[in-house]
Amino acid sequence: MRAIVYEKFQGPISLQNVADPTPKDHGVVVKVTATGLCRSDWHGWMGHDPDIELPHVPGHELAGTIAEVGKNVQNFKVGDRVTVPFVCGCGTCYECHSGNHQVCDHQTQPGFTHWGSFAEYVALDHADINLVKIPEEISDITAAILGCRFITSFRAVVDQGKVQGGQFVAVHGCGGVGLSAIMIANALGAEVIAVDINKDTLQLAKDLGASKIINASNHSGVVEEIKSLTRGGVHVSIDGLGSQTTCFNSIANLRKRGKHIQVGLMTDDHKHPNIPMDQVLANELEILGSHGMQAFRYPAMLEMIKSGKLQPEKLIEKTISLEQAAQELPLMNQFKNKGVTVINSF
Ligand SMILES: [Zn+2]
Ligand SMILES: [Zn+2]
Repeated sequence: MRAIVYEKFQGPISLQNVADPTPKDHGVVVKVTATGLCRSDWHGWMGHDPDIELPHVPGHELAGTIAEVGKNVQNFKVGDRVTVPFVCGCGTCYECHSGNHQVCDHQTQPGFTHWGSFAEYVALDHADINLVKIPEEISDITAAILGCRFITSFRAVVDQGKVQGGQFVAVHGCGGVGLSAIMIANALGAEVIAVDINKDTLQLAKDLGASKIINASNHSGVVEEIKSLTRGGVHVSIDGLGSQTTCFNSIANLRKRGKHIQVGLMTDDHKHPNIPMDQVLANELEILGSHGMQAFRYPAMLEMIKSGKLQPEKLIEKTISLEQAAQELPLMNQFKNKGVTVINSF
């Protein structure tokens, strides 16, 4: 099969012919029809993910058609259109039994723990627990961008943040994950304040439902501004970027008993940021993470997409070929894109 491969972290990325994957007894092989480019793929290529073994094929947000089925799979068959959350649970550990497959002790992640979807075919494990059938009304390109940023934001806003109509929500960093959070919080009736340093991105944030935007590049008092706009701070705040500054601001701009949700990945120098722990105590703040979403929570989200309450396709900026992805991946940290890029020709 054709696949995007790198043999060295931060090294060349090229389109190569490699062996087709075979399914495990509990897994499937999917013919990929669409797959999103995410900054986590860039983190992987940089060498920030200890799970990756070289040579490696990245790609973890995907949709496709089942091409081959392992002998123990019961609920899926060849030809089914499916997608998958980027964290695949094992189904048998303590976390999976408690319904928290997104933090499974033996999780597999296509594009990290094994070869991913920047290829014609990808292997997916524990199919009965992790695969999600794509409803007819939803296209492959739209389904492809759900599996990482969109579900992580959905879990952040709906399950972790428990955002309700009338609440204030701040989103710091408006990449794919931040924009998804804005759309989802707006759909629930919250008033959303978007913070970014790129004015085109902020315009898109506004189009997707942010009622206020703040350009942090020419604003030193982001926290004060948000506190004044919301008469005391937001109920729920999301760091969609993953940096010392956005994490600090996202906690500092909360109102009493507010919730900060970390969604942007914290790597390198940003791993262990300073945070205003004095305010966490005095104001009884909550600090939560969101790490993907269980496959069994997809139906609630898919219903909102089918009814038009959520329109993830609006996050897509452009589609490219597998070959072009080799050029795009190293540039993911330059924040030139507003919105999401999807590979849809293999
Ligand atoms: Zn991702
Ligand atoms: Zn598990």
